[in-house]
Amino acid sequence: MRKIAIIGGGAAGFFTAANLGKERGNQTVLFEQSSAPLQKVRVSGGGRCNVTHACFDPKELVEFYPRGKKELLSVFHKFQPGDTMGWFESRKVSLKIEDDNRIFPISDNSMSIIECLMAEAKKNQVEIRLNENVQKITPTENGFLVQSKSGSYEFEKVIFTPGSSVKSMEILKNLGHKIVKPVPSLFTFNIKDQRLKDLMGISFEWAEISIPELKMEAEGPMLITHWGLSGPGILRLSAWGALELHKLNYEFEIKINFIQKDKNECLDFLNKFKSEHPKKSVYKINPFSFPKRFWHRILEVLKVPVDLNYSNLNKNQIMQISIELTEGIYKVKGKSTFKDEFVTAGGVDLREINFKTMESKVLPNFYLAGEILNIDAITGGFNFQACWSEGFLISEALKG
Ligand SMILES: Cc1cc2nc3c(=O)[nH]c(=O)nc-3n(C[C@H](O)[C@H](O)[C@H](O)COP(=O)(O)OP(=O)(O)OC[C@H]3O[C@@H](n4cnc5c(N)ncnc54)[C@H](O)[C@@H]3O)c2cc1C
Repeated sequence: MRKIAIIGGGAAGFFTAANLGKERGNQTVLFEQSSAPLQKVRVSGGGRCNVTHACFDPKELVEFYPRGKKELLSVFHKFQPGDTMGWFESRKVSLKIEDDNRIFPISDNSMSIIECLMAEAKKNQVEIRLNENVQKITPTENGFLVQSKSGSYEFEKVIFTPGSSVKSMEILKNLGHKIVKPVPSLFTFNIKDQRLKDLMGISFEWAEISIPELKMEAEGPMLITHWGLSGPGILRLSAWGALELHKLNYEFEIKINFIQKDKNECLDFLNKFKSEHPKKSVYKINPFSFPKRFWHRILEVLKVPVDLNYSNLNKNQIMQISIELTEGIYKVKGKSTFKDEFVTAGGVDLREINFKTMESKVLPNFYLAGEILNIDAITGGFNFQACWSEGFLISEALKG
């Protein structure tokens, strides 16, 4: 009888396997339902794999997790992005920190990460069984009976890392765990609006987006897409508001500030600009740093005549432009995925996990990690970091 079963060969399962050490590894079987493990790692970061994020203070790091913030603090004190970097680099996978602090392999190829994880699991003599869908787990006197397509096997311990599929949640419910209903996180907003129509590709270095109904706001770069709006600011709101936006059926209003000024500051700025450049054409001269095409669109929508000079821009027009640029209201109807990247908010209730070891409090000798937990983060490498850290804790716990 092998001692340990790992169910699911994704980031969390493989990182655990890679850290078990030979003594535990050679007692371990990893069950993966597909013919190729680590598929999400392969496609992640556009095929480059955004392994982690250059944020080395656990207190700062947890701020990127809408769910799991409190629980992950102690986990990151044991294994954080600096440890992830050290772990891969000591195994000859060189990493680089990009300008926005995301960390990738220097190869810009997720295969470097996959090959490393697989080599480490192999070194530990973990038996990898592909095309093995685990259908049922039953507690027994000495541990667990794991039933897969090929048969039933007994194990003393189970490490459950199957991602966020509905089936996995069912297995857990049958084992007595409480599941927080899964809903999507990390999505872009669908908006049909004359002000954005045919402007896809235009980006704003900074925008502040708020959802007045939920009293939520986020800031960051923003991008006009074919369907509406995307970019870090929007994705952040989608993650922090994942549960509430699901309840609203993804129909809500957002308010956007496109410039780093409030309405009154914008009024003052435009009035000053008008007095300093009275003869200049309003259409030709965009006084703001965002692209001219958006400036033109706002003027068109507000019906500002094309041949107008700043001296003829009246009080009402200046007020309307200021409102549009600092408090523009847009109606969101629906969501789209962001470059196919998405995560699930929801999963195993965190009160049922001992975060020193990742062992279930409901079921002794049963460990959980990865997206199956009610933990998720915004984009930037944080979701993988949670998998690495949790997997590491399990491997340490099993070393006894
Ligand atoms: C397109 C995309 C890009 C992403 N890019 C990034 C990124 O760059 N950086 C980042 O931090 N995060 C990224 N994410 C999020 C990240 O991929 C996930 O958070 C992470 O993969 C979760 O790992 P996991 O091991 O918990 O689950 P998974 O990666 O989903 O792995 C679970 C594995 O278990 C197997 N499995 C499931 N059920 C069973 C069963 N019953 N029996 C046997 N096997 C089973 C599955 O086949 C799968 O291989 C991305 C997500 C997507 C979808």
